[in-house]
Amino acid sequence: MHVITTPALRQQVLDDLRRQLGPGAVLVGDDVPARNCNDWSPQAPRRPVAVVRPLDAAGVALTLKVCRSVGFPVVPQGGLTGLCGGATPEEGWVALSLERMSGIEEVDAASATMTVKAGTPLERVQDAADEAGFLFPLDLGSRGSCAIGGNLSTNAGGNRVIRYGMMRELVLGLEVVLPDGTIITNLNKLLKNNAGYDLKHLFIGSEGTLGIVTRVVLRLFPKPQCTMAALCKLADYDRVVALLAAARRGLGPLLSAFEVMWPDYWQVVTERAGVRSPVAPGDGLYVLVEAQGTDETIDRPRFESWLEGLMEQELLVDAAVAQSLADIDAFWALRDACAEFPAVLGPHVSYDIGLAVGRMDDFARRCKAALEAAIPGCDSVYYGHIGDGNLHLVTWVPGLAAAAQPKPAMDAIIYGLVKELGGSISAEHGIGTLKKQWLGHARSEAEIALMRTLKAALDPSGLLNPGKVV
Ligand code: FAD
Repeated sequence: MHVITTPALRQQVLDDLRRQLGPGAVLVGDDVPARNCNDWSPQAPRRPVAVVRPLDAAGVALTLKVCRSVGFPVVPQGGLTGLCGGATPEEGWVALSLERMSGIEEVDAASATMTVKAGTPLERVQDAADEAGFLFPLDLGSRGSCAIGGNLSTNAGGNRVIRYGMMRELVLGLEVVLPDGTIITNLNKLLKNNAGYDLKHLFIGSEGTLGIVTRVVLRLFPKPQCTMAALCKLADYDRVVALLAAARRGLGPLLSAFEVMWPDYWQVVTERAGVRSPVAPGDGLYVLVEAQGTDETIDRPRFESWLEGLMEQELLVDAAVAQSLADIDAFWALRDACAEFPAVLGPHVSYDIGLAVGRMDDFARRCKAALEAAIPGCDSVYYGHIGDGNLHLVTWVPGLAAAAQPKPAMDAIIYGLVKELGGSISAEHGIGTLKKQWLGHARSEAEIALMRTLKAALDPSGLLNPGKVV
């Protein structure tokens, strides 16, 4: 996008926009909050010319029209917890924040849906569902800060994807403002609706490059009545794959999480982060299996006898079964301890990759060896939502500052292996700017060309998040 204007005209346009959108809607200069200069991704903050905070879709449409007229590119911002630069502005851009578009509009118990404004924090949606007697199952570590519009735009995943799917499976309808200011309102509540193209999918996972989501219809689910969990230790990865198959067969729809932790991760978490291990120490892989049921008297004995059967078959070396909610929290504390890595490991680089379940261990071994061989002193740990084909890894060279970590060399090794093994460079966090150069490792030229065609069709002037994703 290239529109020639004078600084005075641009200033006047922002003043006009402030008048039309009302007090507090347009922040410029020193009033621009530091938080709007960067998301959570590891990159330098950049100050936008203005932060615009409309109250509704009409205000978003007006903002987009004004920005297009004077050539301000626009970055949509939700909770700013994204990890790959999607919500970070560039110098001279306008940040369009959804923070004032927050709130639950409706819970429709008969349809089991909830209609929310796009700036509503995820945790607020979870709480509102709970109060209405339902479950909204999306759950991320950033739940208190991330917003539903951001979750939708990144197609967020998290802890219970194995049971409920990613955000794409949890959205029935939406309202979106296109770059030309057109408001498309399709607050569909129907599970089945094949009337033409299902346009919502264009915007889910498109990281704010095709439109700005302003309202969303979410699916709600019955609240589980009981939760069972076991922390299992297994001798090798073949047995982990066998355990996953056994969990799918034996627990069926009750299976709600299958999280695997490799020995190097386990060592860091139990020895350096000091989280207590409920199973005996020693070599092996650790799996947190969780199941959620509808009847404690039926589902708990079923879970326990399933586990006993696996012990008898000698699939497991050891297992601890949660006897209380406190035990379940303690098991999850082991998996969630990765949030302590900044304090425990110091500067490090995080990755979020997708791989076929059967290839995870091959990847972990080869990746560790390749990193150690190519980068002196490089260490790495492996863990993730393996039931979803999603592996996380963290790499670091001890003693080096964040800026000195050899990220380009790490990227080349890790994404090279991902490509060789037919995986994805992003399972759930997205592409943004940080992974853009590697998109060709996970998508064909024809797919990337089609993405560019869609971008050009919806946003011919390159107004929204230009240069992100494709
Ligand atoms: P933002 O960071 O504000 O924006 C993300 C992208 O969406 C940007 O490209 C932005 O331009 C665009 N966008 C935002 N709002 C809109 C809108 N209304 N319309 C159009 N585009 C929009 N992610 C997971 O998937 N799984 C996890 O388990 C997970 N755990 C995390 C744990 C922590 C501690 C942190 C910090 C992050 C984690 N994330 C996880 C990443 C992040 O929380 C998710 O990507 C989340 O969905 C981003 O939501 P947000 O509101 O913060 O979006």
